[in-house]
This record gives sequence, C-alpha cells and structure tokens, in this order.
Amino acid sequence: MMTRSFFGFSKPCFEYELLTDTLPVPEEIATPATVTLLLPEALEKLDSGLIKIGDKVKTGQKLVLHEESGACVISSVTGTISSITPFIGDFSKIFTAIAIDVDQEEIIDQQFKDLYQEPTLETLKNFFSFVPGAPPLKALCDSANPPKSIIIYGGDTDLLISTNLYYVKADINAIKAGIKILKQTTGIENIILAMPGESLQGYGHLGASVKNVSAVYPFGSPNLIMQKILKQVVPAGKDPMDLGICFIRAEAVAAIGNAFTNGCLPVNKILTLVDKTGKQKLMSVRIGTPLKEIFNHYNINLNDRDRLIIGGPMTGSAVYSEDFPVQPDTDAVMVQDAADISHTSDYPCINCGDCIRICPAKIQVSMLVRLLEAELYEEAADEYDLMSCIDCGLCSYVCVAKIPVFQYIRLAKYELAKAALEEAENQEQEEETNE
Ligand code: SF4
Ligand code: SF4
Repeated sequence: MMTRSFFGFSKPCFEYELLTDTLPVPEEIATPATVTLLLPEALEKLDSGLIKIGDKVKTGQKLVLHEESGACVISSVTGTISSITPFIGDFSKIFTAIAIDVDQEEIIDQQFKDLYQEPTLETLKNFFSFVPGAPPLKALCDSANPPKSIIIYGGDTDLLISTNLYYVKADINAIKAGIKILKQTTGIENIILAMPGESLQGYGHLGASVKNVSAVYPFGSPNLIMQKILKQVVPAGKDPMDLGICFIRAEAVAAIGNAFTNGCLPVNKILTLVDKTGKQKLMSVRIGTPLKEIFNHYNINLNDRDRLIIGGPMTGSAVYSEDFPVQPDTDAVMVQDAADISHTSDYPCINCGDCIRICPAKIQVSMLVRLLEAELYEEAADEYDLMSCIDCGLCSYVCVAKIPVFQYIRLAKYELAKAALEEAENQEQEEETNE
C-alpha cells in the first residue's frame, strides 16, 4: 500500500506489502528459446576459459569461466552455449554474459545430486551463489570473520514487491528446511526471522526466533532491523557483517531448503512485475529469461522513452534494454510509462528541509547534496555523514526541486569505493616492489 499525505508538512508514509495481504499464485512463464546468465567475472580471453561456444550444458550444471577465481553460474536450462560476451552492469560492474539456446529435452545435472545428502559449507559455497535469492555466501563462508548470527528478512526491502513474502506465506516448510541446513553447515545457532508488521504467532516450529519489525518503509533496511532487534547501531561506512550479522533473503533460505530436500538446484525465480498502471503480478521464470519474454506474456508494449526499472520504486535501477535477463537477485521489474516519469531538474535547492525531516539516518541532506553536486565526495563523507546513508531514496522522493539526491549519493559512494580499491591495489603493488 502506498499513501501520501495531503498535508505538505506531514511526512509521507509508505508501507511494505504484508503477509496479511492476499498474495496471488505466481504465474509460470514459459522457458524462453535462449537464456542469458551473467557470470560476475571479466571474460579476458575466450580461449582461456573452461567453457566455450558450442558446449552442451544440463539444467543445474555449474559453469566456471576460470578455475582460479571461483566465480560461477548455474545453468537454468539444458541446451547449447551460443555466445560468451563481455557485459558491463550497473556502476561499471563487470560480467561475462553466457547465452544458452534451450533444448526441447531437459536433463538434470548430477553433480549436486551426488552431494546433497551430506550438506557441507563447501557444497553451499560451490553450488549456491547463483540460486534464487542469491545467498550471501562470501559472508556465510568467511572463515577469517565468521558471522555470529543470521537474520532472514521475510519481507521485501522495497515497496510494491511480494517476492520474499511469497516464500514465507507459501513455502514456509522450505524455509524451515533451509534454516536447518544453515545451522548444520555454518554452525550458527542464532538465526532470526524478521517479519514486517506481522504478529508473532504460528512460527514456533521454524528453528529460528521470529521478531517483528515496523511495516513502514524503510524499516526493512538491514541497518534499521539491527537497531530494532539487536539494539546495535551499524557505524558509518560499515555494514551488519562488520558486526558479525549476516542478512539473507527468505527466497535464498527456501532455495537452500528445497535443494537439500529434493537434490536439485532451484532454477526458477519468483519475480514481482509492476506494470504501467501500478498493478502487481507475481510470476515464476527461469533465471536468465530476457525481460521482453515477460512483457510479451503479459502483452505489455513498450514505447519510446518508457522506463524499465529493476527493483522497486524507491531504490530500483533503470536498465536500457528489454533483453536484460532476470538474475538470481532480481526481485522485481517495473515498467513506467514515459508520461508518468517524474523528471529530475537542475533547479537549485530551495532549503525547504523536507529531505532532512524524512531522512531516517538524520543526515543534513540539503548540505550534503551541495557537496555531491560539486563532486566533493570525501568532504561529503567527512562533513555531512554520507556513509551513514542507508540508501532508502526517501530524500529524492520528497525533494520539491526534483534534485536527484539519491542518484548523487549512489554515485558518490561508488566513486569513494573505487578510489579506496585503487589505493589498496597501489599499496599492494608498492609492497611487492619493495620486497
Ligand atoms: S537515501 Fe536520503 S533519506 Fe535515505 S538515508 Fe540516505 S540521505 Fe537519508
Ligand atoms: S528537499 Fe530538495 S529542495 Fe528541499 S532542502 Fe532538500 S534538497 Fe533542498
């Protein structure tokens, strides 16, 4: 539900989708002729890779480009690799796009089936980075800094989305099985299921303690859940994992539970589609399905300058092509009609203060944005607490001058992270030279 106050001086109040709302049964979208899987690694030289064009692959097969890196995808179909190309994602993130032409006959790969009866952390690490919900395996398997607790958020972190909520409502036994596997493989006993606005009854059998958090956006944000449930404040520039808390989507826990129950890696993704009229549809698609297949299924016609957004209305990112494939962490796709797009402007800030009043991190946003517009990112972090921002996007929503505040914030964080990485690499090189 989305409500906006008629009174300018009241804060707008948004609520997440809730378990008490009626959830539709996901509609099955037919497997497309070709799927594209985005492997998070640079292609470099095609002939140096372990997979090549023309290779036959089975459903559930692990595909690795270079042995040493550990990056992999799980094939969501049975078919033939038809292309392997470089792909640049959001904020210059580097991928290799593996396109697979789908065969009529489906064959399930045996590799995981041979291992599933004896669950280990190694098996999780080797096979689960590309299952629906994208479990945070790097954090779960970090032997140097192992997590102390796991928090499963049973809701969705943006508005209008019912993807993770669907699993809590429809597949709670898979979540229960997933919790058991997580305990068994990681040794972590303290697992919490956080539910937005939900009563605490009926979940006693799960093997996790169940806590409720506010249903008001953005209280499903990990940093705010930490404050509410564990009474811990995540310091600026850190994330919950720095305090030993690993967050995981409900869908990922259900995927782990289902895989270790059936011996098959799940390859279908639940997805919420928000169409041009704002109506939501829940569906199940093969990972790697191009968005255009979904639009064809629902007879959605895209016109010039319509906008496609991966994610929800507050924090989603626009994509430029309807060929973009559904990935393990794609919880929602939104289509906005060109006429409904709220355009940004280059008007100056009028000091209305709305962004400061709405900000859950209590940041002086109007001052922060001045520095960000001037690309003074380090000063923004030092003087106006940029790194305390929890990325909720509310400041952009309320800005009467239509300044793209949240986009400035994202860009600034990306630039600072890039500079920090370059500095660390330079330092490493210097140390190697001096040795
Ligand atoms: S996105 Fe904006 S409103 Fe949200 S925490 Fe960051 S600065 Fe505050
Ligand atoms: S909401 Fe926009 S115009 Fe108002 S103070 Fe914040 S940045 Fe300035």
